[in-house]
Amino acid sequence: MFPPRFAYQAPRSLEEAISLLGSSGDYAKVLAGGQSLVPMMKLRFASPDVIIDINNLPGLDYHRAGPDGSFHVGALARHADLEWSSLLGQTQPTMAAAAPLIADPLVRNRGTLVGSLCHADPQGDWAAVMIALKGQVVAQGPAGRRTIDMKDFVTGPFETALAHDEIAVEAVVPPAQGARKGGYLKLERRVGDFATCGAAVALETGPAGDVIKAGIALCGVGGATIDAVDAADALIGQPLGPAVIDTAASLAAGAANPGSDHRGSADYKRHMVHTFVTRLLTSPNAALDASMRTAA
Ligand SMILES: Cc1cc2nc3c(=O)[nH]c(=O)nc-3n(C[C@H](O)[C@H](O)[C@H](O)COP(=O)(O)OP(=O)(O)OC[C@H]3O[C@@H](n4cnc5c(N)ncnc54)[C@H](O)[C@@H]3O)c2cc1C
Repeated sequence: MFPPRFAYQAPRSLEEAISLLGSSGDYAKVLAGGQSLVPMMKLRFASPDVIIDINNLPGLDYHRAGPDGSFHVGALARHADLEWSSLLGQTQPTMAAAAPLIADPLVRNRGTLVGSLCHADPQGDWAAVMIALKGQVVAQGPAGRRTIDMKDFVTGPFETALAHDEIAVEAVVPPAQGARKGGYLKLERRVGDFATCGAAVALETGPAGDVIKAGIALCGVGGATIDAVDAADALIGQPLGPAVIDTAASLAAGAANPGSDHRGSADYKRHMVHTFVTRLLTSPNAALDASMRTAA
């Protein structure tokens, strides 16, 4: 199917893009990788009057560590840039485990992490990862920049806190206070598919191995990405032993709200959440070791 007619703009600066968004009314859409927007338009689930293509904007195709240990992903960093990043493998185990599991190589070559967060699909892998990492999105609009916590950024299925004239310029992972551990596991019907169930775990541990910060988030098992706060809180101050792992996995499975469909029953999906969280907590970083590419 062809999308309805639309006007196309390709600004050369962020300021021009924001100004175009402001003057284009409510139904202008930013185009980043186009891997969600274009299919939505072709299926006529989205019919923007104006497309603002940000691919010519300079200086947004980075991922880098900040001097304070924070981690920054620009709006034009592609999934594939992250998949093959040695920096990600060395510093961000949860992100590095997820990157090769997003879609297929064609989609990963064009799609962006920031675009995925803005798309706010309840099955999107990156939103679960960034919620577990207690990440943030930096948005720029006519009045300047503001930082939005990931837990407040996604306001519903396919809805975000962005104003119509704001562009998400980067995603940020705050600096770690302890040793970073974690991973991401995803159940998919075939390689490249969206998650039947995805679980992201991000931990920071102290010198004695006790957990000082924890995030657990789920995708594909509810109407939005799920922040399993109680499950993560159950880990704080504890070493990762079998009893505490079982408690956290049970709380995460309880936080899931899946439906039964052609991908499996609700009970099966909840069981998979329990299994994934148990695996990730029993061997944090194992998912990373299994999925790591030979980094460039
Ligand atoms: C076959 C296929 C399989 C896929 N499988 C998966 C999968 O397994 N897991 C998964 O998570 N995703 C999957 N996706 C989606 C893919 O990851 C997309 O790349 C991603 O969801 C959107 O990123 P994008 O850069 O392509 O955004 P676009 O498609 O360009 O935009 C998506 C939405 O976000 C908005 N947007 C984008 N960037 C910005 C910005 N900087 N500021 C403000 N708004 C912005 C757009 O206006 C649009 O509403 C799949 C897609 C396809 C086609």
